[in-house]
Amino acid sequence: MVVSAVGSSRVTLLPGDGIGPEVVAVGREILREVAGRFSLELEMEEGCIGLTALALHGDPYPAETREKVSRSRAVLLGAVGGEQAGQTEYARRPEAGLLALRRSMKLFANLRPVRIPDALVPFSSLKPAVVRGTDLVVVRELLGGLYYGEPRGRVRNEQGEEVAWNTMVYSASQIERVARNAFDLARTRRKAVVSVDKANVLEVSLLWREVVNRVHEDYPDVSLAHQYVDNCAMQLVRDPRQFDVILTENTFGDILSDEAAMLTGSIGMLPSASLGAEGTLYEPVHGSAPDIAGRDLANPLGTILSVALMFRYAFSCPEAARCIETAVHQVLRDGYATRDLSGEGRRVVGTREMGDRILGRISVSEGG
Ligand code: NAD
Repeated sequence: MVVSAVGSSRVTLLPGDGIGPEVVAVGREILREVAGRFSLELEMEEGCIGLTALALHGDPYPAETREKVSRSRAVLLGAVGGEQAGQTEYARRPEAGLLALRRSMKLFANLRPVRIPDALVPFSSLKPAVVRGTDLVVVRELLGGLYYGEPRGRVRNEQGEEVAWNTMVYSASQIERVARNAFDLARTRRKAVVSVDKANVLEVSLLWREVVNRVHEDYPDVSLAHQYVDNCAMQLVRDPRQFDVILTENTFGDILSDEAAMLTGSIGMLPSASLGAEGTLYEPVHGSAPDIAGRDLANPLGTILSVALMFRYAFSCPEAARCIETAVHQVLRDGYATRDLSGEGRRVVGTREMGDRILGRISVSEGG
């Protein structure tokens, strides 16, 4: 697997917008506690991105933040986005900051693990018999496809009608790079890759499938199957346990990984890691959730579990990752839940209290 080549122990925290600052504040405490416990000396600094950065610097990913990120081994991001007055050109939208961050770190693979141990089964919106034992990872290509493809634009045509377009474009080398990542990851797991495309309709998917098949020749010990994206969306809720590693392009991965997130019961639960040549980025899968921002209602577990991934991938400390993951599962088993996971018999707590309960579990855990 490609993991950060950067040698420093610096971590940049980018809280961002909406609930981002609330969940990153909890993530920072977990990072500090677990690093101390496992004798890792981390230097932490904060930067701004998204709406907050636009307000301060007129740029959703200002040079100052870019500089901090370039010096870091790992970045922890909250979320960006929210309401802006009037229609704003794309470059001055908060989401443009997120894409610029991903591009500056050359993050080409986004990993979204979805694991449902017994403690999480009651929270899923699917039947226990369907989700119990689910353990899959979505590997999403992050630098190509519709979100970056050129040409893109919007005009009023000769008839006076508005027309807009984007381009889904991939080169063979972009596909090969992320496919190798998925096959390498599968080798550390149950050795099964499902590649997801729309090869019955799209030329770009035909190239995707051919390149994935070629890369597979170097991994005879890993099984490979192909699924169309619409079928995969259905299979994920029909029988998620059939999947080990799902490999897919940017837009399909964006949608499928949110669907996979809901297998855990709430989008607030799901962590992600993005790997690249110039550092690694860790962020919860959810957005800035403006509807609940500033009210101590956000589920911080996606961020906390992203910190676990940081220890695993950026600092090669799987014991620290497991310590966090175990604490999360214990607190859920104890019946504590944020409002998004609430249900009969659960004790609903706020963002901060959930963070404190995880910290409490970590501080009495063994190891380190
Ligand atoms: P969202 O993920 O912010 O929210 C969707 C729903 O899930 C909302 O009802 C929200 O309250 C709930 N939710 C999300 N995270 C939660 C958490 N941690 N705890 C409890 N409930 C949670 O998606 P959206 O509403 O489509 O987008 C809102 C903004 O976020 C938009 O500006 C969008 O562009 C942005 N966004 C950013 C990212 C990112 O920063 N990576 C990802 C997705 C969306």
